Amino acid sequence: AHARYERANPRSQAVHLEACNAMPGGNTRTTLFHGPFPLALESGQGGRVRDVDGHAYIDMIGEYSAALYGHSHPAIRAAVEAALARGLNLGGHGIAEARLAQLVCARFPSIELVRFTNSGTEANLMAVATAKAATGRKRVMVMNGGYHGGLMYFGGGGSPVNAPHDYLLGRYNDVEGTVALIEAHGPELACILVEPMLGAGGCIPATPAFLGAVREAASRVGAVLIFDEVMTSRMSAGGRQAMLGIAPDMTTLGKYIGGGMSFGAFGGNRDLMALYDPRRPDALPHGGTFNNNVLSMAAGYAGLSEAFTPAAADALFARGEALRARLNAAANAAGITAQWTGLGSMACVHFGIAGPIASPADLAAADKTALELFFLDMLHRGFYLARRGMIALNLMVSEEECTAFVDAWQDFLAERRPVLP
Ligand code: PMP
Repeated sequence: AHARYERANPRSQAVHLEACNAMPGGNTRTTLFHGPFPLALESGQGGRVRDVDGHAYIDMIGEYSAALYGHSHPAIRAAVEAALARGLNLGGHGIAEARLAQLVCARFPSIELVRFTNSGTEANLMAVATAKAATGRKRVMVMNGGYHGGLMYFGGGGSPVNAPHDYLLGRYNDVEGTVALIEAHGPELACILVEPMLGAGGCIPATPAFLGAVREAASRVGAVLIFDEVMTSRMSAGGRQAMLGIAPDMTTLGKYIGGGMSFGAFGGNRDLMALYDPRRPDALPHGGTFNNNVLSMAAGYAGLSEAFTPAAADALFARGEALRARLNAAANAAGITAQWTGLGSMACVHFGIAGPIASPADLAAADKTALELFFLDMLHRGFYLARRGMIALNLMVSEEECTAFVDAWQDFLAERRPVLP
């Protein structure tokens, strides 16, 4: 598969070699790297992207969920072009940010007030800092397998470049263990930061019982509960919290909410967020030259108001559920041990695991060789996805293209059967 990939992608290889002159590994986003060298993309239109060697792909990953609107969505394009025509770096308040903020607050009832950032990473750093400042406590509880940006990543426990908080590591979906941990450390706990579905950790949904128990325990000990909905905010107009009827104290957002431009947001109840009100003598500082940049604000507002309506959100969720069911049925029928986990429009494949997948520990024995083969074979078959086997549907991928993906999955399983688990 490597040799075939190298033959097919000489220009991507040349781009990579040049990039290696000035960036470590030729890379500035570790997520995108894969062997033997990553594809260089040139353009995107609708539900497709095109690489520098001229191959077109059905875009099944949609910029890791940020490209929910597909490529060059007319409503977003129009909003961005209009903003561009008015000038980029005005250095003042605009009208689009107030509109976007009100729309976000209307969609997420637990968000009474919101502030914008440039990325989900920053949003999570700000939310945790807010909780520490508000509670006067120091400990930050996170879940093993959680990903909250490159500075708070807990796959395999932790990372040496993580922000230097005093972390307490809970086990995802372990109700008793996590509640016990929260209660044991209650008085020190500033916040509990949790993804309603582990995204980068393999598309493992939290059980409603787990999130409900964490909600109650957080309230009992006075810790701020933060839902990282940077990815799961696409599960309905009001995110996964709306689907479950569980309200966190704070929420972080990113990805598609900025219409595909650089974006992040943190928000929550009025008491916490009002700490940033600059009219207060004791206001907490929160700056950021690009926090209200006109492109993100305009694109975000256009996307939410014109394209990702509540009905569109529900339809995308249903389409993803149906696709995942078909992919799993095909694996079953082929007798291959492969599972697609996930929720709605996001899914991730795991090879070689027969039992249920409820936490990152359940993925320890996953077959990485089969995953790499799958990734490179699907590229060869014309489908762009994440090297970790993740997909995130965008609004412009059609029903026929979803069916083509299922067909390609079936063909892959049949062709590679001898080396698959
Ligand atoms: N939280 C989650 C759950 C994410 O999936 C990501 C990005 N993949 C982030 C935070 C970080 O967002 P960004 O890449 O915009 O910094």
